[in-house]
Amino acid sequence: MSPKQVAPTGVDPYFPTHGDARYRVHRYELVLDYRPGPNRLGGSARLSAVAGAAALAEFALDLAEFRIGRVLVDGRAAHYTHRAGKLRIRPAKALAAGAAFTVEVHYTGNPKPVRSQWGGLGWEELTDGALVASQPVGAPSWYPCNDRPADKASYQISVTTPTPYTVIAGGRLLSRTTRSSSTTWVYEQPAPTSSYLVTVSIGQYATVRLIEGSTTPSPNRTVPQTAYLPARLLPEFTTDFARQARMMHHFEDLFGPYPFGEYAVVVADEELDVPVEAQGLATFGTNHLDGSRTSERLVAHELAHQWFGNSVSIADWRHIWLNEGFAKYAEWLWAEYAGGRTAAAHAATAHALLAGLPQDLRLGDPGKKLMFDDRLYQRGGLTVHALRCALGEEAFFRMVKDWAVRNRHGVVATADFTAHADRYAAAPLDGLFHDWLDDPLLPPLPTAGVSR
Ligand SMILES: [Zn+2]
Repeated sequence: MSPKQVAPTGVDPYFPTHGDARYRVHRYELVLDYRPGPNRLGGSARLSAVAGAAALAEFALDLAEFRIGRVLVDGRAAHYTHRAGKLRIRPAKALAAGAAFTVEVHYTGNPKPVRSQWGGLGWEELTDGALVASQPVGAPSWYPCNDRPADKASYQISVTTPTPYTVIAGGRLLSRTTRSSSTTWVYEQPAPTSSYLVTVSIGQYATVRLIEGSTTPSPNRTVPQTAYLPARLLPEFTTDFARQARMMHHFEDLFGPYPFGEYAVVVADEELDVPVEAQGLATFGTNHLDGSRTSERLVAHELAHQWFGNSVSIADWRHIWLNEGFAKYAEWLWAEYAGGRTAAAHAATAHALLAGLPQDLRLGDPGKKLMFDDRLYQRGGLTVHALRCALGEEAFFRMVKDWAVRNRHGVVATADFTAHADRYAAAPLDGLFHDWLDDPLLPPLPTAGVSR
């Protein structure tokens, strides 16, 4: 692409170099081999994609430093350049507008995290294994992708690794085949998935079937829930995650059917600053277990992301409060339901906390620098609480469930949400949304029966 060319619309203003809005991918098939000792990853990615409204003489994928073998478009060798995280591909023949095409990239190397203001993102080598935590832009650390949250695709992921290791990826395990000292694990995630939510964990883990359940979505099915963790932590885990199955029931009551086939939890053999959500899966660190349920709010937070963020995805990162505000509020809803402090009490605590901090964060467009600031989480939860106070219990919970159900597996922006919520209110919500989303000043603590 010539540097003079104007960036296409649909580019994320926080990460303008990530993604290419001129085409979309509907399926990824990754066939990878990983050797934990030398931290060596190699294999191929096959993408099934569709060109947008204009013909494509070239297009780009995001991919960190790897040695590129072959690049094929529709089975034919293509020209490419690979610099600064961008794999720019020029097919032998331009792709017509709206044309379906396939891209195959063969690559190998030593994956390492993508550097960012939040530390390393993406593929992380552990003492004995690896994990992937990509939010928001770490996915290119391990596979070539159109790295924008709105471009959701189905995934098949095959990983071959030495036999003692367990491989976990989001989705259903299709097969596990051992040949001599290596085992190949094949996972299928049929639901539309954002690139940052694709994950792999590799380690020497015990497998715990928490709930057998049924992977086929049907009314009143029980969602299968599995955990993978270092065997020595089983006693703590059993207490810390004891209530996750009840949590799943409660969230299905509140937010509608669980959006994916199954839910898995990985406790990586490593301390992690925060747990991280992936599609149908969440990764925790050893520090999130203590046998006293100290981190249970995080169990609720990560589970809630399956609806808010993973199924209902944001168009770009400006709208991140839609993910984190609801995940935060779900922590409070769970505590309230489980007999702990009420959501109103949590809201009061969050409000007091924010009142003592700088008020320079615009929730509806926080900027890249503040998108993971704790104030965004707290104020996001408070905004949801303000809506509950304004709408009343019945309309609020109907609004939330309808939001998750109607946008299931979809892509949304803040304006979609405000228009949606407005339909459940007796009086317009413009003032509320202005105060909470646009104005950095902290509005008064919302209380039930008060509309603003
Ligand atoms: Zn979160």
